[in-house]
Amino acid sequence: MIKPDGVQRGLVGEIISRFERRGLKLVAIKVESPSKEHLEKHYSDLASKPFFPSLIKYMTSGPVVAMVWEGRGAASLGRQLLGQTNPTASAPGTIRGDFCIDMGSNLIHGSDSQESAQKEIDLWFPNGVTE
Ligand code: ATP
Ligand code: MG
Repeated sequence: MIKPDGVQRGLVGEIISRFERRGLKLVAIKVESPSKEHLEKHYSDLASKPFFPSLIKYMTSGPVVAMVWEGRGAASLGRQLLGQTNPTASAPGTIRGDFCIDMGSNLIHGSDSQESAQKEIDLWFPNGVTE
């Protein structure tokens, strides 16, 4: 998912290009302004963290682009393309390592496993993903 800062900064094309060039296949995409409740579900694992309220505020600051990417090892490959959670720890050549510096506005979300990808696809694309 491209987060609100990624959309506002006009980085949607750049980010999609990187996934495409690596060989992943785009199978679903939509622009959405999700509700606070929707994002609280998306990040429910982090509900007890002190930064949770600011995370939800950031994530509701504008539209996001939700996507489903398919390919061998797509979840772990996607995480490699993203870089680390903290952009300052992200290597140049990664999306976060090339385009941002603050953990509180780190451009993009990636599912951290195949299981969480499936859960997130069900949350963001409740009508299913057609190919
Ligand atoms: P994402 O789930 O968004 O892909 P991630 O898996 O790299 O990021 P998580 O631990 O799942 O990292 O945290 C989700 C998001 O919460 C981070 O991307 C970041 O925006 C924010 N976040 C995480 N840790 C902190 C922190 N210590 N301080 C502030 N914000 C944080
Ligand atoms: Mg995460």
